Amino acid sequence: MGEHESASPERVFGRSPRSSKVRAVELIERKRDGGRLRDDEIDALVLGYVAGAVPDYQMAAFCMAVVWRGMDARETAALTSAMVRSGERLDLTRFGRVVDKHSTGGVGDKTTLVVAPLVAACGVPVAKMSGRGLGFSGGTLDKLESIRGYRVDLTTAEFLAQLERIGIVVTGQTADLAPADGMIYALRDATGTVPAIPLIASSVMSKKIAAGAHAVVLDVKVGSGAFMKDIASARALARAMVAIGVAHGLEVTCELTDMEQPLGRAVGNSLEIAEAIATLRGDGPADLVELTRVAGAEMLVRGRRARDARTALRRIDRALADGSGLAKLRELVAAQGGDVALVDDPAKLPRAPRVETLRAPRTAFVAAIAADRIGVASVHLGAGREKKGDPIDHRTGIVLHAKVGDRVERGEPYADVHEAGRPGDTDAIAMVRDAFRWRPRRVVRRRLILGRIASR
Ligand code: URA
Repeated sequence: MGEHESASPERVFGRSPRSSKVRAVELIERKRDGGRLRDDEIDALVLGYVAGAVPDYQMAAFCMAVVWRGMDARETAALTSAMVRSGERLDLTRFGRVVDKHSTGGVGDKTTLVVAPLVAACGVPVAKMSGRGLGFSGGTLDKLESIRGYRVDLTTAEFLAQLERIGIVVTGQTADLAPADGMIYALRDATGTVPAIPLIASSVMSKKIAAGAHAVVLDVKVGSGAFMKDIASARALARAMVAIGVAHGLEVTCELTDMEQPLGRAVGNSLEIAEAIATLRGDGPADLVELTRVAGAEMLVRGRRARDARTALRRIDRALADGSGLAKLRELVAAQGGDVALVDDPAKLPRAPRVETLRAPRTAFVAAIAADRIGVASVHLGAGREKKGDPIDHRTGIVLHAKVGDRVERGEPYADVHEAGRPGDTDAIAMVRDAFRWRPRRVVRRRLILGRIASR
């Protein structure tokens, strides 16, 4: 089937609805029993699902079989290709080398909001389709919607026109790009089938391939606040994504980064926008600045704007110091209809009516801050959603005054909980308290960048 032809039930499974059912069951059973599927069979299943020939329950059963039995590299590649071919694929070659960035999801991860404007300010076009938060992990679109008026629903034509005009776009995925991923991801979310490397790798990479970038820098989070809980599975996911990228002619770099504690200090939508702006003003938390520099430099190298990492780092540092990154964020917000007064004065961002300050019961060092607990607390405060489509409160969240390794004096604040009078507030405050582990003696700070797996 050609790149832009659409799937129909007849094309993918033959004419009889009965025979389509039999085929899908066979494929599910084979995967359940540990067998492997051919490319054309995976194609038929995915395109059949998008066309309505395969019902939700069969696709859900198939995903569960993959969770248990896995897929080999060839099957994962076929799954990705089928998802790409379920919709349109943008051609961005006229913009030169376009670079994308994606995180596998974490708590307090506002890196895109800092790194995308910095890289665009250095002359590399950044075309980014972001997602919403789900469960305890936040989403860039929700954060951006804290800025009054900011549109995250650009059409493909608007997306391309803005990229041409200002060299940066951060919007939601259009319905035409990898629609199979949107459908399968929603199903996985409701059926406990998200954490499987072939499913995550194909989901992330199908969107990146369809969106047309020439290179992608992926932040693979590792730890309690991430899908990948240990470094071995994070490496396996990174290798799978690099292999898919290479097979589709994309350069891919995966940075493996720590998500045992939240990134930066702010967790929650407006709070994270304010932190991103502060970082672009040169006043960001050390871990966020470190990750921004590493990811930004890699994007410049992959975008052929710097010949090596040292030169790239110098450029990123200059864009941070001279305010051109901040100016680019302003331009982005204005282009997408957002109120730039909020970028100029983040104190005007939506604010929660009440702040509960947590203070150290005794002088001690912070030994751990469970990222997943902080993430769940932010959901209880209304900053995240339990299920797709839930409304969120952009005002609420948590600000950490101490990170792992910091010493906090008795009575000093270690966290602020920004609340808006919900029934879950008390639980959330208890969870934030619980998330902190204390030690009387000095604690080694956590390493942020844990590894790198990249194509040539
Ligand atoms: N992010 C995605 O886009 N897809 C997944 O499956 C998991 C994280």
